[in-house]
Amino acid sequence: MDIDSIIEEVTKTEPKIVSVLGAGISKASGMPTFRGEDGWWNQYRAEDLATPYAFSQDPKLVWEWYRARMRILLDAKPNIAHESLVKLEKEGISIGTITQNVDGLHEIAGMKKYVEIHGRIRYSKCSICNYNERWDKEKLAQKDSDLPYCPNCKTNLLRPDVVWFGETLDSAKWEQAIKWTLEANVLLVVGTSGVVHPVASLPYYARQKGAVIIEFNVEETPLSSTCDFSLLGPCEETLPKFTDILIQRLKKED
Ligand SMILES: [Zn+2]
Repeated sequence: MDIDSIIEEVTKTEPKIVSVLGAGISKASGMPTFRGEDGWWNQYRAEDLATPYAFSQDPKLVWEWYRARMRILLDAKPNIAHESLVKLEKEGISIGTITQNVDGLHEIAGMKKYVEIHGRIRYSKCSICNYNERWDKEKLAQKDSDLPYCPNCKTNLLRPDVVWFGETLDSAKWEQAIKWTLEANVLLVVGTSGVVHPVASLPYYARQKGAVIIEFNVEETPLSSTCDFSLLGPCEETLPKFTDILIQRLKKED
């Protein structure tokens, strides 16, 4: 299916776009997956470190792992795929973005309307008093042996502000995700294989409302059969191409 036919379909009525993002959109920003790599951390699995149990057993190890990730992440920059979604937002075509990514690159790109349903790795939080703070180079320079205590309540350990394995999603964020999905008449599924629940259910909600669903991925995924169109290729190529043509087309109609 060529892009022009997809644009044709999408512009039959005024498009209200919602995007669901996964790791694929951040690939061109050089985000490491922390899986299958060489190095010392390779002896650990994310499933074993990113859990409340691991944190209760060995908070130093868990913090050391997050600091190692943050040292890489602090230098990462958003790529043209993030920027293309920001353009859609500025044009008033995008009503919201639902991201599974914790890297915050969408925010750095300038996105305003988003929910980070798996949390945000650039922040630490106190699970008792709700204090939170953003990482910076200074905090990363702290010794790995130093555990960060909450500067507000002073008794509790800060923890990364992400949803760990075995934890439930923030219900307010999830409700927002559903609300946007039900308002959308076009759903973009970007760089996610759609196998992780409950995010995987969003295309089905959109489908029930009759939205056009377009997938952007390097390969077909378990979601492809639910999508109206699949644009195969790297997201940083297919997505900006789609959004640029769409914006031009809508401007012509004005
Ligand atoms: Zn606190």
